[in-house]
Amino acid sequence: MKLLYYAHSRLSYGTRKEKQELRLIKKRFPEYHIVNPNGITFMSLYEDGIMDECKSIVRQVQIIVASEYNKHIGRGVFEELSEKTKAKKYLLRNKEFIENFSVRTVDGNDWKIKYGKCEGMMKIVCAWCGKKLGEKEGEGIFHGICKKCKERVLREMDETEDLEAIIKFEHGDWGNRN
Ligand SMILES: [Zn+2]
Repeated sequence: MKLLYYAHSRLSYGTRKEKQELRLIKKRFPEYHIVNPNGITFMSLYEDGIMDECKSIVRQVQIIVASEYNKHIGRGVFEELSEKTKAKKYLLRNKEFIENFSVRTVDGNDWKIKYGKCEGMMKIVCAWCGKKLGEKEGEGIFHGICKKCKERVLREMDETEDLEAIIKFEHGDWGNRN
């Protein structure tokens, strides 16, 4: 059975947000059985046991969807995300599933929602050839230029360099300001 773990703050257990997110997850991953820690709570007598149980489940799933709350996650969700697992991890922000993200610790003791701030990571892509250059904080795609394309563009610029460009440079659009 394909399993998906829905990591979310205990504050959202039983809320409308939880219901909406479960619906979104079902729609996006219809072939997965969703494990909701909201139901596991009843199986544990002691608070400490809940986290251990969740973590052991996290290690067995193929997908972890972490729900964020005002761009933050609590320590519980953070620990679940940090478990050593091969599961693919998604951050559920509003109605979007973000694949690349990082978490910056804000308050290491906060179990509710302020443990860490989530940052979407955006892909840096060469605008000329489309090569993936890396990632940086943010969302969407950031365009840059790779080494190869930069060399080529500079070479082409040298070849087509015309008089007009040289004159412009010499008069200095930047140089004659008071
Ligand atoms: Zn390129």
